[in-house]
Amino acid sequence: MMIKRKRQDEAKSQHMDKGQQGLDGDDESQQLQQVGQDPQNQESGQSDQSLRSDQAQLSQSKQTTQAKQSMLLDLDHVSKIYGDLHALDDLSLTVPAGQWLAVVGSSGSGKTTLMNIIGCMDTPSKGSVRLEGHPLEDLSSAQLADVRKDVVGLVFQKFYLIPHLTAVENVMVSQYYHSVVDERQALDALDRVGLADRAHHLPGQLSGGEQQRVCVARALINDPKLILADEPTGNLDEANEKIVLDIFRQLHEQGTTLIVVTHDALVASCAQREIMLNHGELSGELWNDEDAHQAYLAAGGRPAFSHDAAPGTQPSDLLTQDLPVGFANPTKAAKVGGQTTKGE
Ligand code: ADP
Ligand code: MG
Repeated sequence: MMIKRKRQDEAKSQHMDKGQQGLDGDDESQQLQQVGQDPQNQESGQSDQSLRSDQAQLSQSKQTTQAKQSMLLDLDHVSKIYGDLHALDDLSLTVPAGQWLAVVGSSGSGKTTLMNIIGCMDTPSKGSVRLEGHPLEDLSSAQLADVRKDVVGLVFQKFYLIPHLTAVENVMVSQYYHSVVDERQALDALDRVGLADRAHHLPGQLSGGEQQRVCVARALINDPKLILADEPTGNLDEANEKIVLDIFRQLHEQGTTLIVVTHDALVASCAQREIMLNHGELSGELWNDEDAHQAYLAAGGRPAFSHDAAPGTQPSDLLTQDLPVGFANPTKAAKVGGQTTKGE
């Protein structure tokens, strides 16, 4: 098959200029300036208590602003609504660069909807999504397509390989849409996933595990900052699952951000952090890496949450209530609709 060489798109980086303007004009920073730089306010008989409350608000606002700026991904009250159905229901979630996050939950709980929105393949009905600080809602569909190919690498359970192209050609298609086709690099990517000797086979001549590894090579060929994997090991046997997890581990060590949807407790437990969805809402959050958790909080990161908390309530308080959490066995949670209990 012939793959035409495509010229490098020099204007590629300009697609987010509009988004940057949105960031610069952030309401929160303007609010911060107003509270922090108005000495008259302090001289006009304000009580110590209200000053303290202003200071606390200022500090909280500052922390939130810092956190928003340092996060690779920031979902703010995001919903996806189809008629009466809330596929995602007011979800707020921040993910810093380099984090490995697992998303678990029963079938129909909104995991793929979430991935599609993060991966710029779908847009929310309500709420806002920022990737690298840029609000995606300000981008045209062409600009969203640019973000998708420049920032995101996708791995799907169903592979979506082109059946009449060989493994290496499938990887080269991803290069073609990104920038420049380079067969040597594509072969190196296949070598990295242990498929150097299968590079010239068609997908139909490969096992499920091998096809999934071609998908991983295709996802990482353009060196994306964010890998989104939707049940990447769902069709794999144990040996191939281990190979894919080892590649994820390497990518994580190299600083790639990973968001992995899974029904498999083992796969979920490899992540630093797990969130569970139930009917589109956040129903639980669990950290497997306490150091990463502390670093996240120190950077101003907040627990994920759905719906506004009552005044004074921290989102983390919501998660200590008796909510259905089935992290120990996401597969079972999937079968019973996420209605398992903590400590199961
Ligand atoms: P999961 O990946 O967790 O199994 P999905 O995100 O695919 O769940 O779907 C969440 C819910 O949204 C499901 O009830 C599904 O039927 C519904 N849904 C997803 N996409 C659409 C659509 N395009 N139109 C109507 N309903 C949809
Ligand atoms: Mg799904």
